[in-house]
Amino acid sequence: MQGGGLIEVNTLADLHRWADHVVATLSTFKPAGKDVVLQLQRILGDRTMSGAFSGIETPTTGCMHMAYAFAKKAGNRPRFPKHRWVLEWNKDAIKELLLHPGLGPDCCVFGDIMTFVNPAYSSVIEHLKKNPHLAVDVLTDVVRSGALVKLTSWCYRHNRYCKVCRTDAHCAGTPCTPFSTQGSQKANEDPCVLFLLVWCALIIKLRIPSVLQENVSGFISSLLVSLMGHLYDAQWYVCDTDVYGWPSHRVRKYHGLILKDATMSLATTTPDPLYVFMREFHRVCNITCDAFWVAPDAMLEDLLLASLSKRKTGDEITRDNVDVSKPEQWLSCLLPEQIKRLNLYRELAPGGCYSLQQNPGGDGETRGFGAHSDEKGALHTMIKNCLPLWSEQLEAKRLCHPFEIAGTQGLYVFTPERQALWPDSPDRKLSSLDVEVMIIFDNVNLSHARIR
Ligand SMILES: [Zn+2]
Repeated sequence: MQGGGLIEVNTLADLHRWADHVVATLSTFKPAGKDVVLQLQRILGDRTMSGAFSGIETPTTGCMHMAYAFAKKAGNRPRFPKHRWVLEWNKDAIKELLLHPGLGPDCCVFGDIMTFVNPAYSSVIEHLKKNPHLAVDVLTDVVRSGALVKLTSWCYRHNRYCKVCRTDAHCAGTPCTPFSTQGSQKANEDPCVLFLLVWCALIIKLRIPSVLQENVSGFISSLLVSLMGHLYDAQWYVCDTDVYGWPSHRVRKYHGLILKDATMSLATTTPDPLYVFMREFHRVCNITCDAFWVAPDAMLEDLLLASLSKRKTGDEITRDNVDVSKPEQWLSCLLPEQIKRLNLYRELAPGGCYSLQQNPGGDGETRGFGAHSDEKGALHTMIKNCLPLWSEQLEAKRLCHPFEIAGTQGLYVFTPERQALWPDSPDRKLSSLDVEVMIIFDNVNLSHARIR
């Protein structure tokens, strides 16, 4: 802590010192004279973990950051949790999960969660895909009992059928389109609600003691309580990335679910509510999101070359005739629909940074727009599947490099090997969870207790 006040973020490097800042704050907590840092380090190192709708497993990356930060503070070697299984349908993301240094050779990597549906319910599920408004009513009982699912599915790590196991903790960003203002807004009448139901059944069947679920702020908490409340105590917390020092907005709702008979490591009596705990980690942001746009010309040339080559203009494109300082070359990478969106964004919020994959709104649209920067230079949303991102905040108006975009998610690289985790194409969907997930998962779910 800096003089007991809020920690200030003044540079990109400060921004990415989140884990160090969290540990510094934690070290000021003194429950009954105990060393919180050492205790949390031990808990983290002893834990088994699993994840669903993993994307590229930001929670695992977050745990690694925390493990390093604990070790730095304590002056010892980092201790990492043991990940038993993760689950992700996106084939590109699966490839990245197989490379993730935090997952290890024993960690199973499963695909689509629907492959866990008990065959006895396959035909019911097929019917409900066409009638999703019936899904919650029809399936509630078999979700609550866990009977909806089986525990084996194809594992991409071991190339055979493997079994999911109970782990100490679990983290999942369940599909948000049914609840998102950018999505269908049909809540439990959207076919995606089936993914949520199958996930609930899996957690219930495994009796995982500590679960964190992330979703948009419009997520209906009572739905989760009605499906899991017979076994789990639930609390939730809505937060935005900007209060943790990021020059961005991404409002998300987190549900912490604790199995009713679970005994938690650091727990004393009544745990602090999630919001009380999380309030401790706020940081003041003094930079704007253009701090992210720092890729060197050589990397930008690669990006421009790759993007132009995809457009099949008929002209031969070589490194000799690309010039990253020419806005017209960047513009010619865009599809007509993307140019239309860009022009609309420019009208709505000049000088911003825009997600060309999301509808800017305006023009009779009432749902607002997805990603652009506000007048303080903060991104309106952290990215998820938002590539390509176009910046008007630089002298050269251009697409942002995937490295830069990954930076906006709080992901960064420790070693050359980890570069395998970075997206390599401007059109690549980065189906990742958020920096907040890893923060909260690492800290709240680890302790879930009154620790002062
Ligand atoms: Zn396996």
